[in-house]
Amino acid sequence: MAYRKMPKEVTVGPYTFQIKGDKASMDAAKVKFECLEAIGFTSTHEQCIYIDPDLNEDMRSEVLLHEIMHTICEATGINSSFEEKEEEQFIATVSPTLLDTLRRNEAVLSYLLGDVIE
Ligand SMILES: [Zn+2]
Repeated sequence: MAYRKMPKEVTVGPYTFQIKGDKASMDAAKVKFECLEAIGFTSTHEQCIYIDPDLNEDMRSEVLLHEIMHTICEATGINSSFEEKEEEQFIATVSPTLLDTLRRNEAVLSYLLGDVIE
């Protein structure tokens, strides 16, 4: 199965995050940030998103959206309003549903992206 090429960076507000989806980077991040069970991880200090390369394509793209949502929470400062684990619970609930909704509704996605439809 051919995988879609993961983008190398994402810009969220004034911040550009590198996206690293290779095994060496993910393994190093798991140790450095003590998140051995993580399948995705965002370091705001490094402005870097790590994605486990062993995930299947559906999971990889959802985990990327999940991590982007963490960067949005950080960039907007809304993360300081969440109680412990509330941010994670919110994102874990919304991210898969949002991605599925966008995938199933191409016309809506096209409209949101500003594509011109004749
Ligand atoms: Zn998370």
